[in-house]
Amino acid sequence: MLHTYDGIVVGRREIGENSCFIDILTDERGIIEATAHGAKKINSSLLSSASLFAYSTFCLSKNKLRYTVNSAKPKYSFHAIGEDIVKLALASYFAQAVKFCTTSEQRQDASAQGSDSIVRFFAIALFELLGAAERTDDAPARTLETVRAAFELRYSSMLGYRPDLTACFNCGCYEPQDGGSMFFLPDRGELVCSECFNREYDGECEKLSPETLSAMRNIIYAPLERCFKINIGGETERRLSRLTERYFLRRTERSFSALDYYKTFDK
Ligand SMILES: [Zn+2]
Repeated sequence: MLHTYDGIVVGRREIGENSCFIDILTDERGIIEATAHGAKKINSSLLSSASLFAYSTFCLSKNKLRYTVNSAKPKYSFHAIGEDIVKLALASYFAQAVKFCTTSEQRQDASAQGSDSIVRFFAIALFELLGAAERTDDAPARTLETVRAAFELRYSSMLGYRPDLTACFNCGCYEPQDGGSMFFLPDRGELVCSECFNREYDGECEKLSPETLSAMRNIIYAPLERCFKINIGGETERRLSRLTERYFLRRTERSFSALDYYKTFDK
């Protein structure tokens, strides 16, 4: 029986000289492990589609519990990620994250993933990562750290850990009043304004600058194709990526070796 899925290769293990197992991220069946016979041969039709981060339409045959790649039609190539070691490290972290958080071969629960397509989200993340610019002092172009922050927060949201950033949870104000501030309470996933903030609150709290709050709202509430479109830099960017990292790692309750590796680079 043949099955056709659009998907992105998020893992690859070599078998012998010519073949490999690939993990394909799909919307319909989560992660599918499939054998790509002969994919390493230079004249193989699967050569590009079986490479890491290839985005293709895969035609798979299933025999008992095993999938085999029958054919594949490339949709987009993220091959260039491999040419930059920092980008590759960040993309590997994204891949580890979705592999850990997406169930294998389970039909995805639409409510758990929201209405966003995980494949589309992952493709957009790779696209933004590929186009991320070097940080310069005078031009806060989108950097890898911004892409990472947007990935962590939006993906947390897609996994069902969407913080409520619409307004102060107590008084409902959208902006802080009288020059006050907004605080984010990561444990509760809520905002509180300085008027309503209880000084005896012993959970974690993070004071947000207006730029940080606006960036976080964009990441959470914008349509998928716009959720990475934030322009922040300098200290705001550093604070945002620290916050989103803690939020994501605490919600998923684990660490990722690829993230630790990515963080060893000076960005
Ligand atoms: Zn309030």
